[in-house]
Amino acid sequence: MSYLPAEIPGPEPLFDDEGFWAACQERRLCFQHCTACGHFRHPPRPVCPKCKSFKFQWTEAADEGELFSFTVVHHGAHPAIGPALPYNIAIVRYPSFDDVRVISNVVDVAPEDLRIGMPLSLLWERCGNGMLVPRYKRRE
Ligand SMILES: [Zn+2]
Repeated sequence: MSYLPAEIPGPEPLFDDEGFWAACQERRLCFQHCTACGHFRHPPRPVCPKCKSFKFQWTEAADEGELFSFTVVHHGAHPAIGPALPYNIAIVRYPSFDDVRVISNVVDVAPEDLRIGMPLSLLWERCGNGMLVPRYKRRE
């Protein structure tokens, strides 16, 4: 069972993020790593924001996510979200990867127990369109 209902729209990869989503389908969370200056970036984009190079490689993230921020949604914008309410939207930070941040959900922590800075581990869930998406659980 997925954190969000299967009727919620899944990702639709485009040119800039198709490599990111392709890696996700192999259960690998990868960030763009500039091969000119070494800077990590996310979400995917064509140019390094630090040195303006177009050169990059995909580098798999370590299991070191931590909760940077979150919100708890009580009123759903999509009609299918009802059974999931209230649910969280989390920003997960990766300190060793230039603090890149991933927007996702924490699936196993009650809203009142979420804490900024809490360590999180990656897990994979399949959404309604069949794609694997990164989600998080508390890391002990
Ligand atoms: Zn760069």
